[in-house]
Amino acid sequence: MNSILKSFPSNLLAQLQSRTPLLWLNPGLGSSLPKDAPGIADVAEAEARLARCAGLMATLFPELKASAGRIESELIATPQLQQTMSSDPECAGSWFIKADHALPIAGSIKARGGFHEILALAESIAIDHGLLLPDGDRLQLASEAARTLFARYTVTVGSTGNLGLSIGVMAAALGFKAVVHMSTDAKAWKKDRLRLRGVEVVEHDGDYAAAVAAGRAQSQADPYGYFVDDEHSLMLFLGYAAAARHFAVQLKAAGRTVDATHPLFVYIPCGVGGAPGGITFGLKALFGEHVHCFFAEPVASPCMLVQLASQQNTPLSVYDIGLDNITEADGLAVGQASPLVSPLMAVQLSGVFTVSDRQLYTQLLQVLRTEDIALEPSAAAGVCGPDWLTNSDPGRTYLRHHDLEHHLNDATHVIWTTGGSLVPPEEHRRFLSIAAQYG
Ligand SMILES: *Cc1c(COP(=O)(O)O)cnc(C)c1O
Repeated sequence: MNSILKSFPSNLLAQLQSRTPLLWLNPGLGSSLPKDAPGIADVAEAEARLARCAGLMATLFPELKASAGRIESELIATPQLQQTMSSDPECAGSWFIKADHALPIAGSIKARGGFHEILALAESIAIDHGLLLPDGDRLQLASEAARTLFARYTVTVGSTGNLGLSIGVMAAALGFKAVVHMSTDAKAWKKDRLRLRGVEVVEHDGDYAAAVAAGRAQSQADPYGYFVDDEHSLMLFLGYAAAARHFAVQLKAAGRTVDATHPLFVYIPCGVGGAPGGITFGLKALFGEHVHCFFAEPVASPCMLVQLASQQNTPLSVYDIGLDNITEADGLAVGQASPLVSPLMAVQLSGVFTVSDRQLYTQLLQVLRTEDIALEPSAAAGVCGPDWLTNSDPGRTYLRHHDLEHHLNDATHVIWTTGGSLVPPEEHRRFLSIAAQYG
């Protein structure tokens, strides 16, 4: 037995091992950030990068003309979903979906982090080669000279899904060679979509993790190689964190106040932790203790919960506690949380709830029926968040502890949906038939 497990709460361990959905509250919430944590200035830099690259994005992707090159999603009020899902009248307040499932071009939350990292790479290479002044017009990055330069470089990423789509498409659009390592059983439509954009897809059967490690080593040994590292990337993280500012503007436009008597609750699906962690970090910078962020993880893959519950920085994986990490939730099947993100979430995250595959499908169906929004299973993981908070013992404990019980009428609940708009119709029909089997 892993020695860290000795200090792991034993009743929690048993509950996790039995794959019973649960809400876990983070005892470290409110402690101070580690000294080497990123700062608000880093998030501001990412926001500035995305803003100065908007014109470039609109040039590269005609579908961004309408948004003037900004990669953004809607904040949608969801009264029907609220009515269906909140059995308890206590679950008052207002429910919204933050629609990152429909982010342009990549169709998932990975557009935020992935595009940001590739834009940062392109800027830095172009500046190093004298093709761009630090304060120069980013449209230069779409010039013939820049494309010729970028073509010397190969961007590599290992991903069975949405990260590969985001990185591959963005890198190829700027003229980089792009290689995405996928497992053989990755969805065919994702491979086709990448190949159509000129991205090389390398398929691996057998040990996928080992294959990605080999791809990483090869890429890092190549002076013209660049590896996007989902587990350690600060550039991905900051791209996600930059989501907070526009979201705050949307909340305000929707008439929502966030303060001590108007709490904001946010529920985000978590894989390795970069996307939900970045968003939490960005939201905490703007709303402090008035925003309460919860992650949703599959019962077979609660990697962030396991890492944070150990209350140590030594890596602990879901395999270490006897789980198999097998779930239908594509982007969430991750055994080990990001070591970059988990120390930050150790002090910022309110808690984690776990969801069964069955719930993912029934929630996917509920969102479709009530709001006519089509998601992929992972993206529906957050839907049961408000119910956990208001209708469970740990949820009520949390509300009491934070003095929020009497402010639920003025609460804002945001379910962050993370992917699905590019899923082909026949794949959606398959999701629905699985959901129907679950009944
Ligand atoms: C990647 C992904 C997530 C989680 O992001 P992480 O950075 O891996 O935690 C959630 N939902 C979907 C649809 C994703 O593709």
